[in-house]
Amino acid sequence: MLEISLLGATGSIGRQTLEVCAWQPQLRVLAMTGGRDWQALAKLAREYQPEMVAIADLQAYAPLREALADLPIRVEAGEDGLKQAACWPGADTVLAAISGMAGLPPLLAAIAAKKNIALANKEALVAGGALVMERAAQAGVKISPVDSEHSALWQCLAGEKTEQIAKLILTASGGAFRDLSLEELQSVTAAQALQHPNWRMGEKITIDCATMVNKGLEVIEAHWLFGVDYERIQVLIHRESIVHSMVAFQDGSIKAQLAQADMRLPIQYALLGQDRPQTSVSPPDLAALSALHFEIPDFLRFPGLAAMIEAGKRGGTAPAYLNGANEILNLAFRRGEIRFPALGQALGDLLAAYREVPADQEAVIYRADQQGREDAARLLSA
Ligand code: NAD
Ligand code: MG
Repeated sequence: MLEISLLGATGSIGRQTLEVCAWQPQLRVLAMTGGRDWQALAKLAREYQPEMVAIADLQAYAPLREALADLPIRVEAGEDGLKQAACWPGADTVLAAISGMAGLPPLLAAIAAKKNIALANKEALVAGGALVMERAAQAGVKISPVDSEHSALWQCLAGEKTEQIAKLILTASGGAFRDLSLEELQSVTAAQALQHPNWRMGEKITIDCATMVNKGLEVIEAHWLFGVDYERIQVLIHRESIVHSMVAFQDGSIKAQLAQADMRLPIQYALLGQDRPQTSVSPPDLAALSALHFEIPDFLRFPGLAAMIEAGKRGGTAPAYLNGANEILNLAFRRGEIRFPALGQALGDLLAAYREVPADQEAVIYRADQQGREDAARLLSA
């Protein structure tokens, strides 16, 4: 039996995790959390019968409690409620699938409570990098990637030695606008960006895919998860989303992991690893595909990608700062308050004017995130 606390249960990854739990009877969800949508959380709680639920929005506490009054389920709310879910006594593993920096406090709480982590919430690792890895090492807990690229890298690295890695090659679909010219990008809308060609995901990450900021976040995520320096992490556009990432070794070999674009596979691998229990997902039909393409990304059309990688290389609080700014700009684009090319440009400009400091304390990271948000908001209202 593997008992899980599921942070972000009502989201895209959260729901797919519950599907994996329905496939595999050895998985059980003991705690689950949501952001604001108490009705969705109540429905999931009724279906999966966890021991506790927590909702981030304090206003949603009373209606959620009411909705679950007939069930023996403890109900909590607010940041403290999320932390209680993250530390829920019976759970061995916390699947961290809150979107954005909001996931960092419960993630750190889970690590302090010595829970193994299955990590989807990349923003928390981007912002908290060194601190998260250091605390996980101290607590002796594993951080297993849920992100499909990192799951692929992890699978390719099974049985290999880190010092023999020549290069980590992260593949990217290129997002909804991969084939548009700079001029065409001027008039694209959030509604168009939300039509991702290969994956169905939450809104924030789908916009990050269109700007390719997502791949910049993933480069930083790979740096921390696998301890590989930035010079040895490469991004390639791969429009089919069949090769989920690759590792090149010093002897000249490359290992790749291929599968259909279905997040339930990396979720299951993060939870059950090399057991590889059977699923209903068939392997890709390579003959039907006929070709797999790989291209160098265009940093001119997608300056947000370059800015995010640069933030990673600069280190310290730079990634927390730029991630905070991106959360504001991403939302502004969804609301039609900033044009697509201006978003990537803004990330580059903000980073150029920022001076990072060492990110060795939680408070310093939250301050940098806050500053990124404020600077981005100021830029939007200018
Ligand atoms: P989503 O928007 O569908 O779900 C986000 C979840 O977090 C929801 O349960 C929401 O209620 C909760 N939440 C949002 N804001 C919150 C807050 N302030 N406090 C507490 N809870 C909050 O997002 P998603 O697509 O499921 O992505 C979740 C995470 O997984 C993100 O970090 C994303 O980058 C990562 N990820 C997602 C996918 C994917 O296919 N969806 C793939 C790889 C990585
Ligand atoms: Mg990914």
